[in-house]
Amino acid sequence: MKIGVIGAGYVGLSLAAVLADKGNLVTCVDRDREKIEQIKMGESPLKEEGLDILVQENIEAERLKASSNEENAIKDAKIIFIAVNTPTENGQIQLQNLKDAVKTATNYMTDNYPVLAIKSTLTPGSTRKEILPLLQENGMEPGEDCGVCVNPEFLSQGTAIQDVREPDRIVIGELDEKSGELLSRLYSDFESPVIRESMETAEMIKYASNSLLATKISFINEIGNLCKELDVDIYDVAEGVGMDSRISREFLDSGTGFGGSCLEKDIEALISLMKNRGIEGSVLEAIMSVNESQKVKPVEILEERIGSLEGKRIGILGLSFKPGTADVTNSPAIDIINQLINRGAEVTAYDPEANENMKKIYGDIEYSETYTEVLEGSDAAILVTDWEEFNNIDRGDLKKMSNPLLIEGRKIDHNAPEKFTEGVTWP
Ligand code: NAD
Repeated sequence: MKIGVIGAGYVGLSLAAVLADKGNLVTCVDRDREKIEQIKMGESPLKEEGLDILVQENIEAERLKASSNEENAIKDAKIIFIAVNTPTENGQIQLQNLKDAVKTATNYMTDNYPVLAIKSTLTPGSTRKEILPLLQENGMEPGEDCGVCVNPEFLSQGTAIQDVREPDRIVIGELDEKSGELLSRLYSDFESPVIRESMETAEMIKYASNSLLATKISFINEIGNLCKELDVDIYDVAEGVGMDSRISREFLDSGTGFGGSCLEKDIEALISLMKNRGIEGSVLEAIMSVNESQKVKPVEILEERIGSLEGKRIGILGLSFKPGTADVTNSPAIDIINQLINRGAEVTAYDPEANENMKKIYGDIEYSETYTEVLEGSDAAILVTDWEEFNNIDRGDLKKMSNPLLIEGRKIDHNAPEKFTEGVTWP
């Protein structure tokens, strides 16, 4: 099937690469020309396990194409995916990127009843209220000249390819049966269950899913804060709780709270939608408030342990919001570094992938090429991201610090004595 994808970010490029690998002819467009040039050369502009090889193989096989010429991508395509970013401003979702992309699509759609499939996350009701009128304004009557589906994405950065290849479920919110049929046909060789719903239900499934994941994280963090007071290890508690099949162990890793481009943005947008409808979002408000205070807990613990941070040299291990990605969007590391700078500390940081991205936010702190370099000469350190390599940290590494102390924002399996380490929500 000929497919166009507008927006070649984490969602768009992962989807394009997987669909091309399944034998479809997929062309991506993106307003970022540098990204397009890189993809054309068979390289992935994003750090995601397995994405680089998938891009390279499918570009070589000419099943995957990238183009700055939008007409090339959209003309004759049976399905046009829109996977552009939808940021929020003061909690309100901003639709300009999406509207531009829809306009681009309508300019070049030629196939008989092409289907516009919205992958971008939109608050419930947005597709009907904002996108359908836009199609009409551009001379396309939805349901007559073209189809529309809401097809939310549930991937996690770091495991994007695996998640796109084998999603737990595929949700299709359809304007009409014909649109849903065509999109279902594209997914017919996926093993995952497909559910077909109204567009609004599909939009809500995405928001409810992300909110529930965030609820689990803030909940286990709050329980973790109590566990720490009681000298109980929250990870042992999470194991016991997670064995209950009604709950599951996923998203019960306590620590410095969640970051990334999605959870925070989506919850803010849902709170704002609730406010507009006169509904109190007290659970959602609490999730955000726990998350904010959790992000700075490691600095508070550090201060309790070593006193004033003024003039102290503090190492940061890990900058990305989670392992497996170079993305630092809303990473707890941003808040932690800010707190340290405000307290007069000198910061030195290391991340295996994200140093360059964090330099765009903090250009003035020192960056190192290895974690041992960070520990050497630091007074103490905070571990923010649980990259695999940090499991190798041992007593010798920690002894490189003048006041050996590692505050752990995430739990790792290191070999260092307990007296040199302290967890944010565990002993
Ligand atoms: P991203 O920022 O990685 O990529 C978006 C891309 O769209 C960028 O490359 C940007 O240049 C491009 N773009 C923006 N407007 C454009 C336009 N009008 N024409 C052409 N290109 C345009 O974003 P992402 O992480 O892939 O997220 C995309 C959407 O999917 C968002 O709505 C997000 O909430 C949702 N989502 C993201 C994830 C995730 O983990 N990243 C997971 C599920 C859903």
